[in-house]
Amino acid sequence: MPEWPEMENYRRLLSPRISGQKITRVDVNRPKTVNEPEATFRGELLGRRILFVERRGKQLLFHLDDGYRLVLHLMLGGWLAYGAEGPKEDSHFQVILGFENGQNLYFGGLRLGYLHRLSAKTVNEQLKDLGPDPFDARMNPELFRKRLSARRGKLKPAMTDQRLVSGIGNCYADEICFDAFIHPETPIPSLDQEKSDRLYHSMRKILEEAVAAGGYMDRPLSANDALTGGFDNRCRVYDREGEPCVRCGTPLEKGETAGRKMFFCPHCQRMG
Ligand SMILES: [Zn+2]
Repeated sequence: MPEWPEMENYRRLLSPRISGQKITRVDVNRPKTVNEPEATFRGELLGRRILFVERRGKQLLFHLDDGYRLVLHLMLGGWLAYGAEGPKEDSHFQVILGFENGQNLYFGGLRLGYLHRLSAKTVNEQLKDLGPDPFDARMNPELFRKRLSARRGKLKPAMTDQRLVSGIGNCYADEICFDAFIHPETPIPSLDQEKSDRLYHSMRKILEEAVAAGGYMDRPLSANDALTGGFDNRCRVYDREGEPCVRCGTPLEKGETAGRKMFFCPHCQRMG
């Protein structure tokens, strides 16, 4: 599932292309992907302008000039394409938005994901439990420690809980724990200030590194996009069971915690 770096990469690439653009085409090939009758959805969107693109956690919010937002959650399997033509037939995409510049935004793989048109008030209500962004101006090691230490249980489920900080999922939680030399199943009460600070700095470092490399999505956003997906082969532990740890050479292990896969080095990631 796309996480903070993948969605932030999309936001950065799409913002200059579609901000200010008027919507001139709305195709809904899968009615369940949107939250209102197809004709309403299309009628309300045609002629509207996209003011800017925001990211909240793993979601993109396309701000419209009538105060509404299109809220996109790609969930598992969703992806985006942008261009005059899509990389596949139009019928392959659940939704297509076209703009006055002749370009289209293609929403693919939205079996679990969705694109909802919602008022600002409804969006705020729906996202009210979302934790702060890892790069929120108010975020710092003290606030992170405070939020983390208010929890019980193991580290990885807390890191992927969108109420603690928003945007981190299965892959980056493992990458962050690895970078911080901390086992993902470490009980939270055993994390002292030094370890919590290490996690905080690893979180910002890994997310920044991943977005700079274009995240791990395997499809380019557009024909000339050489950035998207550049982080895919740079994950150090995720999906690398049995491969040698880049730090100590020990074969990486795969486990499960709270129903989630986890990948870690059994030698250099310590439990506390
Ligand atoms: Zn190691």
